[in-house]
Amino acid sequence: MLARCLCKAIEFEFEPKNNTAINCHCSMCRQSHGAAYATQLFASKASLRFIQGQEKLTEYPSSPMGLRVFCSVCGSRLMNYAKAHSDYMSVALAAVVDAPNIQPSANAFYAGRVQWCDPTQNLTHYDALPDDIGKYL
Ligand SMILES: [Zn+2]
Ligand SMILES: [Zn+2]
Repeated sequence: MLARCLCKAIEFEFEPKNNTAINCHCSMCRQSHGAAYATQLFASKASLRFIQGQEKLTEYPSSPMGLRVFCSVCGSRLMNYAKAHSDYMSVALAAVVDAPNIQPSANAFYAGRVQWCDPTQNLTHYDALPDDIGKYL
């Protein structure tokens, strides 16, 4: 799957796990993406291959667990890495080129959602990450 940032300086390929995506409503995703929530795919970091621009990535340690990664030129949020298990990675579905036929399967951290934007999809809501995704952290 091909993804890139807004300015196209960074392009990369990765293999999503199970074509699973979630809407994450946690406050860190909201603030870092500048959006009501962030839709994330999950992938093995081992599948990550940069086509160009890896040197333009900036990693921000938003918590003791994880790094939030964005383009230092245009600011596009691209992916998250976990510090503890280095193979864990999530990728912003919005960064994927040629939008794949993937629908989010759940709303994570739903209790912390904003009141000014409620997702209309009829998804299962979780107080944290869904169990089948949290196990990768
Ligand atoms: Zn960029
Ligand atoms: Zn989040």
